[in-house]
Amino acid sequence: MKTVNAYAAPSATEPLVRTTIERRDVGAKDVLIEIRYAGICHSDIHTVRGEWGPVAYPLTVGHEIVGIVTEVGSEVTKHAVGDRAGVGCMVNSCRECANCLAGEEQYCLAGNTGTYAAVDRDGTVTQGGYSTHVVVDEDFVLRVPESLPFEKAAPLLCAGITTYSPLHHWKAGPGSNVAVVGLGGLGHMAVKIAHAMGAEVTVLSQTLSKQEDGRKLGAAHYYATSDEATFEKLANSFDLIINTVSAKVDIGAYLSLLTLDGTLVNVGAPPEPLPVQAFTLMNNRRSFAGSSIGGIRETQEMLDFCAEHGISPETELIAATEINDAYERVLKSDVRYRFVIDIATLA
Ligand SMILES: [Zn+2]
Ligand SMILES: [Zn+2]
Repeated sequence: MKTVNAYAAPSATEPLVRTTIERRDVGAKDVLIEIRYAGICHSDIHTVRGEWGPVAYPLTVGHEIVGIVTEVGSEVTKHAVGDRAGVGCMVNSCRECANCLAGEEQYCLAGNTGTYAAVDRDGTVTQGGYSTHVVVDEDFVLRVPESLPFEKAAPLLCAGITTYSPLHHWKAGPGSNVAVVGLGGLGHMAVKIAHAMGAEVTVLSQTLSKQEDGRKLGAAHYYATSDEATFEKLANSFDLIINTVSAKVDIGAYLSLLTLDGTLVNVGAPPEPLPVQAFTLMNNRRSFAGSSIGGIRETQEMLDFCAEHGISPETELIAATEINDAYERVLKSDVRYRFVIDIATLA
């Protein structure tokens, strides 16, 4: 075991504090990563506050991790000491079920092992990336291309893959009309990636306050959803809509914007059900779908795609001591567009 510095939540109601956590010894198939940067995802906040169910404390969160490989186990073949490595939302899966064999480990039928707050296969509770080191099985470690700015790359491991996967699956590209609902951490990556794939991108945001940003990120059009006229004007016009909003929205209103065979994909996870009228789906043969992160192979493909197209998240770099303030700002949507913790400040 190795004791390493970390930031952890002592309970659901207290601020995160500086502490130490244990990392397991490097096994034959493991990689030890010295973490350099960790992104702050909204899921981190929901989880430490117990809003998605009870968790064990103290808990270190963080599932947008990049760092340098400093040790590898005797059977490791995919990574070497000195490599730039990434870890996203999962660190293991059963590897035997149909979904794992299809390379879609995020949908492991036995449940994938989350990077934090999950019971690992050795019975310990996983601890996330707000720490100086992590030990991960090599099969769940990504290669971070050298051309990606390291201090900006971490959010690709959750926000990047969460939006890349549905855009790729539903074939966003030249000739397709893609709408992105919400311009936050996920939404801003959806706009960049869809634009790089060659799609014509429209942002649907509550107000026009981030319009200038939206256009810089690659959106050709920008509409306020608080304006009723938006829904009349854009009826039957999108092939694909990526809904990144995790609050309850009027799904029927968005479905009515889909063209023939269009699909609305939810990547946000509101706690309440989202009612849908069957007639809205029947008209134009529309689909209402969901998508959750991406498999390891697809996550690597996304990192390589972003490197090739020169895409990286818009980030604000903070010290570990600023994590609690950053959480308050995330809750107020006061971040453009992702906080990244400089892990050197935890050393
Ligand atoms: Zn996340
Ligand atoms: Zn599986």
